[in-house]
Amino acid sequence: MTLEEARFRSLGHLARLEPSFQARARRWYDLMIGTPLLIYCSLRTPEEQDALYAQGRVAGHSGAKVTNAKGTPVMQSLHGYGKAYDWCPLKEEKGGWATAWENVSAYKRGQKIALELSIRHLTWELPHLEDGLVSGWRECVMGGATDGDLMHRDNRPEKIHRKKKFFVEKSK
Ligand SMILES: [Zn+2]
Repeated sequence: MTLEEARFRSLGHLARLEPSFQARARRWYDLMIGTPLLIYCSLRTPEEQDALYAQGRVAGHSGAKVTNAKGTPVMQSLHGYGKAYDWCPLKEEKGGWATAWENVSAYKRGQKIALELSIRHLTWELPHLEDGLVSGWRECVMGGATDGDLMHRDNRPEKIHRKKKFFVEKSK
């Protein structure tokens, strides 16, 4: 790919991010000048997240596990809320530019600049950056959910138990 193509794709992904996070991500992208890079993932649909989750877990989906986050019944990745993106450094190769996943120093630079913008990185997933102003996906779910939604969205065992008890008491 050319650097122009990488820029076009990167800006396209930035445009899909949630507006308040997008402003900081754009600033990050501008400050990363001098480090050729590609933003290759941003907003994901629940179906896309489920497909990723299936990788390495379900027969027919080959390769290693890539994520612990499910897309349904509740989106467990900040990607689903437009509050995360994945990027990789690029290196010059045979007249074009190729991904340089091994360029740890570039990732370190990206993390340092990200921190100044309240953008969080993960220690176990170098390409991933996410909104440091939210605690995690649960906060995003709670933010936009009604009580009815929470009935099936929040399916932690202790919650289900409590809700069942509540309905038993009510029906007496
Ligand atoms: Zn990611």
